[in-house]
Amino acid sequence: MKTSRPILARIDPAALRRNYLHAKRLAPAAKAWAVVKADAYGHGLWRAMAGLREAADGFAVLEAETAIAMREAGIRQPILLLEGIFASRDRRAVLEYGLTAAVHCTDQLDMMLAPGPTASPLSIYLKLNTGMNRLGFSAGELPAALARLRGAAADITLMAHFAEADGARGVAWQMERFRAMTGGWRGPVSLANSASVLRHPDTHGDWVRPGIMLYGASPFADRSAAELGLEPVMSLESRIIAVQHIGAGERVGYGGTFAAEGPTRVGIVACGYADGYPRHAETGTPIAVLGRRTRTLGRVSMDMLACDLTSIPEAGIGAPVTLWGRGVAGEVPADEVASAAGTIAYELFCALAPRVPVEVGESGPG
Ligand SMILES: *Cc1c(COP(=O)(O)O)cnc(C)c1O
Repeated sequence: MKTSRPILARIDPAALRRNYLHAKRLAPAAKAWAVVKADAYGHGLWRAMAGLREAADGFAVLEAETAIAMREAGIRQPILLLEGIFASRDRRAVLEYGLTAAVHCTDQLDMMLAPGPTASPLSIYLKLNTGMNRLGFSAGELPAALARLRGAAADITLMAHFAEADGARGVAWQMERFRAMTGGWRGPVSLANSASVLRHPDTHGDWVRPGIMLYGASPFADRSAAELGLEPVMSLESRIIAVQHIGAGERVGYGGTFAAEGPTRVGIVACGYADGYPRHAETGTPIAVLGRRTRTLGRVSMDMLACDLTSIPEAGIGAPVTLWGRGVAGEVPADEVASAAGTIAYELFCALAPRVPVEVGESGPG
């Protein structure tokens, strides 16, 4: 619903495409699944498709229904079901719509290979558990699964996922297990998420699976998206709707968690946790007003939050605010807001609330 409340999210499909092409340059020998699960990490699947439709080698999603909708919209590239099918009725969709399905356990393999019509070769991502301990076949289970898929003449790609590609422990230990499990394998492999695309070229294999980097956020705590050559895709923008002048000792917001040390000009922004702004963002979370960077003050409420306008006297009611992304009022990395709230940009993007109107267009001041 378009409302007169000034909050707005802007999505820039061209920036999304450039981030995808950046991932492709980093993994030049591989093809790249554009991971568009979770409604394209909260950006809107179809808005993301506007940027990726021509560019991407393939698309990775979770639900068969999403994949079907994409096929019905005319998308011809491979579509990967990252967790495979959840019910035997989805097997038909895999066949009928030519989807690629992960298979991560024997029960799922039973579903995929159930008797019934089979079309042109099944395209299967056989998932190995190399230490994430979430999904995947163990070393002991693998030979039987491979034999069954070969018996069904499936096209097989081996897939694994890294638990700590963004951290100090890295990927070598999981790569070691992968090699030990798959010794003589000569077929295609797919291992790398964004962190591995960016930091571990030895993992790139045949198909990489970048997600968060496409949306212009960093998978690393110690490298910013800008340093990684990524552009923000989503901006969350609003305006100042009230200004308060408070003196030393006056407090702001629920719980009075911020107390002014001296005369302070407080701007009230039309954005709160019901818009998807993280309630746990503490005083000091970066925010931009009228092209200047400042900080939030006190607790985030449902529909509003407060910011410090003491050093931005020209910002009054109606002044534009950027909560995150590259907005009219300036740029604030979503990663920094997330980190101030003890979370990651993935969660901020996915939590963008349905009540926030979304516009598609180029982001940035102007
Ligand atoms: C979500 C997901 C990805 C993408 O991960 P990012 O960290 O966002 O790059 C890759 N592979 C699998 C299996 C996933 O579920």
